[in-house]
Amino acid sequence: MKVVIIGGVAGGMSAATRLRRLNEDAEIIILEKGPYVSFANCGLPYYVAGEIEDRSKLLVQTPESLKARFNLDVRPNSEAVSINAETKEVTVKAEAEEYNLSYDKLILSPGASPLVPPINGLDEAENIFTLRSVPDVDAISEFIEKKQPKSAVVIGAGFIGLEMAESLAHRGMDVTIVEKAPHVLPTLDEEMAAYITKELKDNGVKVYTELAAFSFENNGKTIILENGERLNSDLTLLSVGVKPNTSVAETAGIETGIRGGIIVDERYETSQKDIYAVGDAVVVKQQINQQDAMISLASPANRQGRQVADVTSGISRQNKGSIGTAIVRVFDQVAASTGLSEFQLKEAGELFDVVHIQGKSHAGYYPNAGTILLKLIFNPQTGKLYGAQAVGTDGIDKRIDILATAIKAEMTVKDLPELEFTYAPPFGSAKDPVNMAGYAALNILEGVSESIQWHELEEKKQAGHVLLDVRSESELKTNGRMKNAVHIPLDSLRDRLSELPERQPLIVSCHSGLRSYVAERILKQHGYDVKNLDGAFALYSMVKPERIEN
Ligand code: FAD
Repeated sequence: MKVVIIGGVAGGMSAATRLRRLNEDAEIIILEKGPYVSFANCGLPYYVAGEIEDRSKLLVQTPESLKARFNLDVRPNSEAVSINAETKEVTVKAEAEEYNLSYDKLILSPGASPLVPPINGLDEAENIFTLRSVPDVDAISEFIEKKQPKSAVVIGAGFIGLEMAESLAHRGMDVTIVEKAPHVLPTLDEEMAAYITKELKDNGVKVYTELAAFSFENNGKTIILENGERLNSDLTLLSVGVKPNTSVAETAGIETGIRGGIIVDERYETSQKDIYAVGDAVVVKQQINQQDAMISLASPANRQGRQVADVTSGISRQNKGSIGTAIVRVFDQVAASTGLSEFQLKEAGELFDVVHIQGKSHAGYYPNAGTILLKLIFNPQTGKLYGAQAVGTDGIDKRIDILATAIKAEMTVKDLPELEFTYAPPFGSAKDPVNMAGYAALNILEGVSESIQWHELEEKKQAGHVLLDVRSESELKTNGRMKNAVHIPLDSLRDRLSELPERQPLIVSCHSGLRSYVAERILKQHGYDVKNLDGAFALYSMVKPERIEN
């Protein structure tokens, strides 16, 4: 069997090495357009920051090491320019020469390229970069060394944009972020992303949202925003998303779908026989709702690479889709998410409910416990898990990884209290935040508790609901008061019920939502119409600071 693979990084190299482990006699040729294969694209921002000091660490394998261990014919600087699906040949452009290469099976893993929007003045600019490859990172590093930029603007605040904003700030630059969406990290919901915006601002990064760059002037050194504001930028990074690299697939007449991604079947085969595709370039099923999606992440690309090697070797394997599990560190905060967001579910018109719980990374009484804000999104009738998001300083990866596993295993919120975790005070809590989120969701599902969300509070108040804050007096003094709230501390609530209006519905809040749930249960059993403000003061004050009085 002769297998040609286009793209020699995540998906392509996973396919190649697995193929060799399964087929000692196969001829395996890897075509890579760039000068390097099997490099650590995910490590590039940390190299800019100086956290990864040694450039050679980015080059995980070389053609020589891959030849020695896997007997692979790796051809860097070799671009596949066209495919003839009838004759089963690829035309390759390698520096000066061009040649045809026949195949029995062809695997495409060409990845994606940074989107470059057609902004006026871009062509004249000398200080605007994108980041995808080692040559890209070399160009940025060389520019920083030579020009010693003092200011940087990052356009686009997704995962790469935020990682680069942090890296450039670490390199001493005065960093500004410009994001077209209403908030940074658009894959997270607004209230969760608010924690990351605060962290950016606390670290001196300026954040503009709901604004796009309109044009560049002064060879890129001036950026004009849509609202006319002018930003100075010595170095600009464009990180506004990616588009799949499908030009070579199109030469073979391969069908494409949403956002131009390559359509593959459950065995990764494209519309052309014996041509397969994986990674950032393909359309996948979002496993939760079976909708077509483009999910550009390393874990799915690596899995798909391995699975396509199995399929082309005659082993039965099914492409089940992806759920989109991702994490980013922004200075001292970490944000992670899995599955569908509240925003996506709203757009799709799905029925869902949400709980936010605040927990600790390990036992609160043991030193250095970090606060975790965990959001669970689920179907209020069946308990099906739709998604989860978390922010905090420590233990975020663990909780989202558990919930991603639960989603893949098709668990419901009813299963979460049943999960048993390792526990000793330095590592966790006897009731882990994942268990607690399960309890909270189950309370909603079973009607033990009713909640409203932070964005519903003002409307409810205007409709006559009374906001009852059950925090202690000292907390109000230290952290501030919620506007127009009645205040009765939880521990005196039973004695002061007469102070509450009997006919008006109540919304109860505390600091994090635990005491307000206790208050809700007391009041419900005394006959009050009462709901819990989910996430309570901590979340509300983060996303609506203007509604807090000192
Ligand atoms: P790639 O790994 O990009 O490989 C595609 C290769 O194909 C490229 O080297 C390209 O040059 C080559 N190619 C394209 N066309 C041709 C052609 N015609 N002929 C020959 N070669 C061709 N994901 C995460 O999950 N976590 C992270 O922390 C993370 N961080 C990232 C940070 C950065 C800066 C970047 C750029 C990406 C990051 N990703 C991260 C995304 C992750 O790297 C990708 O999802 C993954 O690499 C996709 O694998 P792939 O094989 O589809 O494409």
